[in-house]
Amino acid sequence: MSDVLGLQDKVAIVTGAGGGIGRGIALEMARAGARVVINDIGVSLAGEGGSASPAEETKAMIEEMGGQAVISTDSVSDWESAKRIVQCALVSFGRLDVVVNNAGILRDAIFHKMDPADWRAVIDVHLNGSFYVSRAAADPFRQQMSGAFVHMTSTSGLIGNFGQANYSAAKLGIVGLSKSIALDMARFGVRSNCIAPFAWSRMTGSLQPKTPEEAERIERLKQMTPETNAPLAVFLASNAAADVSGQIFAARLNEVFLFNQTRPIRSVHKAEGWTPETLAERVLPAFKASLTPLERSGDVFAWDPV
Ligand code: NAD
Repeated sequence: MSDVLGLQDKVAIVTGAGGGIGRGIALEMARAGARVVINDIGVSLAGEGGSASPAEETKAMIEEMGGQAVISTDSVSDWESAKRIVQCALVSFGRLDVVVNNAGILRDAIFHKMDPADWRAVIDVHLNGSFYVSRAAADPFRQQMSGAFVHMTSTSGLIGNFGQANYSAAKLGIVGLSKSIALDMARFGVRSNCIAPFAWSRMTGSLQPKTPEEAERIERLKQMTPETNAPLAVFLASNAAADVSGQIFAARLNEVFLFNQTRPIRSVHKAEGWTPETLAERVLPAFKASLTPLERSGDVFAWDPV
């Protein structure tokens, strides 16, 4: 089989690979010939409990395909533990080429009722976890002068969503982290990109239909299986994406998106400088038509995937 992706015998860590999108990515990595570290602590959606079984199930699925995998049950959300995840790849397979930061939890609450503990827990897994695992992988990547990061962001951060201040902040933070890694590590041949995935998984599966139309819509959304995000992640991790770094993509069933990144869109200059009053008089009318509407992800992705 030709190896256009260049992933044959490479080593990939996929965090949160015990289910959902991460499992889909781990299987697709193995299909592309990579050896996989399946990292997962097997917690509930809110990050409670813990079990090695989900990771073991993914491992069995990879082995059934004839692939190679090991499991790592260390949490991404602690520096010492994240270092052990990278160590697991180096000890088990002797190298590390790809890190997919995918592990995640949700603790939704409307902002004015958000508990600081729920803020911290979500930031710790998504943003701090992505930093810890990436930072630990940066050492071998730098030494070998190659490596690829793929991080899961979300349209909840890129666009917005109700009741997800912790998650949106973490997911937009991951975009900044990815861009910084892309800039800082380009000199070592290391790339870093983000994906905003869409999937009918346990993160979205709690929607309860109230009308027959909604029930029909949910049936359509169920086609958006977690695995449909995997080809994009594997492509971005591969040599076929050698020139792609610092970018943000999305996958939604059969659609693939490239996102823009924040740049100034209007400017007004006044030689004498501004006062709050002159800003109100001159800048507001000039900018008004260009202000970004207060939209949620669902307002922007207003059509169903087909
Ligand atoms: P999921 O809940 O099915 O899977 C997440 C996995 O992460 C679980 O198996 C869980 O045990 C694991 N995990 C949680 N905390 C961990 C920790 N500290 N260390 C290691 N593993 C840990 O979720 P999913 O829907 O597959 O989401 C995967 C990623 O994609 C997440 O980062 C999520 O924010 C992102 N995402 C998902 C959607 C979607 O539509 N499902 C949309 C946007 C972004």
